[in-house]
Amino acid sequence: MAVASYLPQTLQERSSDSECAITGTSSSLVKALEQHKNGVVSSQSVEGQAAEIEVTAYFHVAVFANSTEDTATNEMITAQFELLKDTYALYGINLSLGGIAREVNDTIAVLSVWNLDPTDTWITGSSPETEDYWKRTRTGSYETLHVYYYEDLIGTAAFCNIVIPDRPKSDYFLDGCHLRKNVLLGEKNAPYREYGTSLIHEVGHWFGLYHVFQGGCEGEGDYIDDTPASTVTSADGTCPLGTKDTCPDLPGTDMVNNFMDYTADPCREKFTPGQKTRMHDVFWAVRSGK
Ligand SMILES: [Zn+2]
Repeated sequence: MAVASYLPQTLQERSSDSECAITGTSSSLVKALEQHKNGVVSSQSVEGQAAEIEVTAYFHVAVFANSTEDTATNEMITAQFELLKDTYALYGINLSLGGIAREVNDTIAVLSVWNLDPTDTWITGSSPETEDYWKRTRTGSYETLHVYYYEDLIGTAAFCNIVIPDRPKSDYFLDGCHLRKNVLLGEKNAPYREYGTSLIHEVGHWFGLYHVFQGGCEGEGDYIDDTPASTVTSADGTCPLGTKDTCPDLPGTDMVNNFMDYTADPCREKFTPGQKTRMHDVFWAVRSGK
């Protein structure tokens, strides 16, 4: 696709084979996850884990001046939020809706994901106007979830800047999840994405989850023990649970029904106990009180 030609190579590869431009190699997060495997992060968060997580979510909708009235209405955003809330409540994470804001601005309504910080892999970029938009709209703390919706998002369907430990507050404006039109609950234009699991997936990144296919059949994968190794494939509308096995030499079949896979929306329905633990550990260790 021509619009991707100016993307860094790693992002070109990601956008050509995927729909989510999450970057998977944050050195500081990987370091924290390795500590987690050794019990370091867990021991820091034992006290916090006794409580459920409370997170306030804000939605920001950016549309063109000539946008139609049915683009990401407050009713649609609220319905998407309710699905998000009900899903995460199953995993001890209580979300509340802080507000929905609309921005009518032809510059901000289109976001080009074009730049990748080579050291910590936060996706930055687009225009100075967009960075200013993020800075003036991202209220709260590192515990506050901000979801941005764009009428046009070039380079990917969605992305979320994965949580990174020890990020300075001056960089918090880069912390959020981003969706393009057509992957919101109820929007029917993106194949297999009309049931609203894209945002559930992106918020999983916000809580520190990698894709279940992270690393393919090699290495540490997603740093979670109960998600079998697999390789990335695009959604094709099927749900081959128990039969798809892209790493046949390793235990388990592909967890196609996991929210952190790329399977079609009707198939994605769960996080694992290991992923729940990871989200709680990362929240208390990295986001809480920051
Ligand atoms: Zn993703």
